[in-house]
Amino acid sequence: MPAHPAEPVIIAAAKLADGLGTASRQDESVLIRDGRIAAVGPRQEVTAQAPPDTTVIDLGDACLTPGLIDGHTHLMLAGDGRPYVEMFRETDELMVLTGAMNMRRHLAAGITTIREHGARNRIGFTLKEGLQRGYIPGPRMLVSGRPITCTGGHFHACNEVADGEEEVRKSVRRLVHEGADYIKIMASGGGTEGTQPGIASYTTAELHAAVHEAHHFHRLTAAHCRARESIRRAVEAGIDLLEHVEYLDPDDVMRFDPKLTEMLVEAGTWISPTLQAWIDYPSVLDLRRRRDEADSFSRAEEKELARLETRMESRLDIMRRMLDYDLRDRIVPGTDSGVNNLAFGHLDYDLQLLVEVGFTPGEALVAATRITAQACELDGEVGTIEVGKVADLTAFAGDPTADVAAFSRVVAVFQSGVEVSGLGTGR
Ligand SMILES: [Zn+2]
Repeated sequence: MPAHPAEPVIIAAAKLADGLGTASRQDESVLIRDGRIAAVGPRQEVTAQAPPDTTVIDLGDACLTPGLIDGHTHLMLAGDGRPYVEMFRETDELMVLTGAMNMRRHLAAGITTIREHGARNRIGFTLKEGLQRGYIPGPRMLVSGRPITCTGGHFHACNEVADGEEEVRKSVRRLVHEGADYIKIMASGGGTEGTQPGIASYTTAELHAAVHEAHHFHRLTAAHCRARESIRRAVEAGIDLLEHVEYLDPDDVMRFDPKLTEMLVEAGTWISPTLQAWIDYPSVLDLRRRRDEADSFSRAEEKELARLETRMESRLDIMRRMLDYDLRDRIVPGTDSGVNNLAFGHLDYDLQLLVEVGFTPGEALVAATRITAQACELDGEVGTIEVGKVADLTAFAGDPTADVAAFSRVVAVFQSGVEVSGLGTGR
């Protein structure tokens, strides 16, 4: 990440949404000193506090927000539609290069913080090291290193296989000593060949061993939970954040479970629904674009779009039913970028889908900033535009608190008060 400038900087914009509330305010600006926010408020008041040598960056019509946070990424994977087996055939060296490309794409899309949710061997740690040394640009990152999984389990090719409480504990210790900022564990099967998403892969006791050991080292835990049974076990074990939460049964059918949802509310667990991943939203958008723009939209394409939209509605419906419970402030948007055809640079897709299930655009912004920062225990540093926070900021054309489409129109990105350039952000 760039070193912060010695001189103070004022960033002014027509609108500012601070991540605390869901609406934007007019004509405010931010004063940045030593990479942190020194003042925020009406333009004249902020200018009055600024030293005479302050540089002013006027973003005109744009809306300034806290930098977005993506709670779920896989940097080593290109998200170019190839199956896991093929992607995993690549070398660690090529995967590190893939990660560098992905970090740049996410940053250009206004995502200034990520959680790296599981890579093979040392890839995740290496990328973080490269970022910290300033070798490659990218979002601030928390790494899990390798995801802990059972023998033959989801992502077993990442090489952190553990069976039984003793081995799980050992894995947590190994990861913490290698530099893991948090612990990721695969509590159910997934897209990996030979695994079943609808079946839990760890017992409550094994998951509890992971939680106990991670918390001992002051590390948070995140569990991949697609199976309904895995959700129950993860909640019982005290996992901090649940990924996917699809309520899948062994027959691969989603069955919403009110009792389990009450348990989620009671436990105060964070939930990352990774909506674009289940839905194959990139394909939905691509087919809709072709339908609206192309001269010919084949019968086969029409059928495929209908199939995907039906599937999408079934997932969104589960999400809407979850939101009938008191869970809105616990939702952490995450892309799952890298897997399948989920290219980096598109947290905007998940925010669009949150609006589909009933969030206002302003609530979607708060979810991807303040709430995710809380879930990752980064809220002392990032997630809002407040005095004392790191000046990681994103500017959009239009007002994303009023129009969710604005999340796709990034005009500027700042890290510690320094504008990131050369990433194709439009400025
Ligand atoms: Zn994932």
